Amino acid sequence: MLIVQKFGGTSVGSVERIQAVAQRVYQTAKAGNSLVVVVSAMGKTTDGLVKLAHGISTNPNRREMDMLLSTGEQVTIALLSMALQEIGQPAISMTGAQVGIVTEAEHTRARILHVATDRLMRHINLGKVVVVAGFQGIASTEELEITTLGRGGSDTSAVALAAALRADFCEIYTDVPGILTTDPRLVPEAQLMDEITSDEMLELASLGAKVLHPRAVEIARNYGMPLVVRSSWTDQPGTWVKSPPVEGRSLINLEIARPVDGVEFDTDQARVALLRVPDQPGVAARLFGEISRQKVDVDLIIQSIHEGNSNDIAFTVTTPILNRAEAVAAAIAPALKNQTRAAANEAEVMVEHNIAKVSIAGAGMIGRPGVAAQMFASLADAGVNIQMISTSEVKVSCVVAAAECDRAVAALRATFELPENPAQKPTPPLPDLSAPPVRGVALDMNQARLAIRQVLDRPGTAARLFGLLARHNISVDMIIQSQRCRMIDGIPRRDIAFTVARMDGENTQKILSQAAAECGWGEVVLDNAIAKVSIVGSGMVGQPGVAAKMFAALAQNQINIQMIATSEIKISCVVAQEEGVQALQAIHSAFGLAGSEKFVIPA
Ligand code: ASP
Ligand code: MG
Repeated sequence: MLIVQKFGGTSVGSVERIQAVAQRVYQTAKAGNSLVVVVSAMGKTTDGLVKLAHGISTNPNRREMDMLLSTGEQVTIALLSMALQEIGQPAISMTGAQVGIVTEAEHTRARILHVATDRLMRHINLGKVVVVAGFQGIASTEELEITTLGRGGSDTSAVALAAALRADFCEIYTDVPGILTTDPRLVPEAQLMDEITSDEMLELASLGAKVLHPRAVEIARNYGMPLVVRSSWTDQPGTWVKSPPVEGRSLINLEIARPVDGVEFDTDQARVALLRVPDQPGVAARLFGEISRQKVDVDLIIQSIHEGNSNDIAFTVTTPILNRAEAVAAAIAPALKNQTRAAANEAEVMVEHNIAKVSIAGAGMIGRPGVAAQMFASLADAGVNIQMISTSEVKVSCVVAAAECDRAVAALRATFELPENPAQKPTPPLPDLSAPPVRGVALDMNQARLAIRQVLDRPGTAARLFGLLARHNISVDMIIQSQRCRMIDGIPRRDIAFTVARMDGENTQKILSQAAAECGWGEVVLDNAIAKVSIVGSGMVGQPGVAAKMFAALAQNQINIQMIATSEIKISCVVAQEEGVQALQAIHSAFGLAGSEKFVIPA
């Protein structure tokens, strides 16, 4: 077998550890395998180099930064190669340039374009282990300009090499035993997962990114490369990251340049909205609990915040089960009275038959501000009004009028340069019956929420708003545009809410307040004290009751849900920050993910 192994900084942090790694590599080679080994810089070397540079310049030249940072890995490859030779294993070290890892000419954040395999194969065929410097490449084979891939980029190097070499699999050795169901610092009962799909891994970016770089997961998914994350210190099997097999994908432009790799749509949808439900714990749990008892499978769920003390909750279902869904909602509405207001304020049910869901999907949107804005602009140019928006890490879904679906899809394919392929009807992912409904639970405490009141409900508004933020390089995380539409002076208006990194909160508010004044929008409200808790699992597709269970876990703990957004395999709720950890623990245990043993955090 041909295997690529990658060892992170801690695993090669000292001479002793490098010797231990050499032993492991040697055993694998002795068992009859061919090996390419990718290594990081020793321990905190890269941090140290960054610090040195900042001692000289507050804004160091990016080319020189690459010259500097790429030295860290060069130390490790030479030492590991020596250690292998010492124990009788033929080995040779190579830098990214020597291998021929060709990248974009973007210093400090280059994407890999192509990996030459001839030199590697020549050495492998001579029985040598090739030790390759991670995190680096060259911008062109003539100029030999050294580039780096961005912090944490060695994972990316390893998986790219594995894909180019068509290796059997890629092993990522690190200082944790694998991928855990949640953060063990917050939930000591977190358990090691045996396996996870690459799609789930991408949606869990906020949980898993420290263990495995999302760009590496993206390559693994695109090339169907099996990955395993394992501990360098033990022989435990670790966590397999599985991707469906892919055939015949070109190895040119290996790290896709496109942010979006698919447009999906579903015209067979209808929407049920409950307007003015009380903003208090237990409401969503009651509604979706009843819905799941009736075996109604809901698709998108969106809840956003509003002025006063009421929320709107909207969800979509496939048309054939609309009647059942509506009946449940109508039956429950009278019970959802706003306790603090007059009975006249009881929830109202609204049904809309002719809607379609249009989504863009792609791992390339992680860390690229402006992809959602581009989608909204494309829809605006096509004259398509967006009725609802729900986003996740790797997907943006919009609800539009069914009659506008074809136009919307054509516009999006053109914008994101996706080939027209009428034969293939893009459908939502098929239920994965072998997968558990929830694989992992993530908590993000570093977000702030912004709400803009009364933006105009007409094509182009979302595009304008999020385009503005993209131009300021502000990454928007969860975007929710809900159902409630109000007429003010004869013009329909809606609220839009979204989250950003907390450090961007105030700046975002400032930028948007200015725009709001110019565009005649309402107030821009900032809330820093929020937390986002998410469940991810491909087994939730086609399985009623998963959302209900999550909401029930929150309700039992008297935790109020402020916002909800979903994609096919993810449900996220915004709650008050001080309730974040409790929310995480409650949900994690509600799905039976907690083990009886406490996870011991490695020192
Ligand atoms: N040494 C680089 C860093 O610390 C790359 C890596 O370790 O993945 O970011
Ligand atoms: Mg890393």
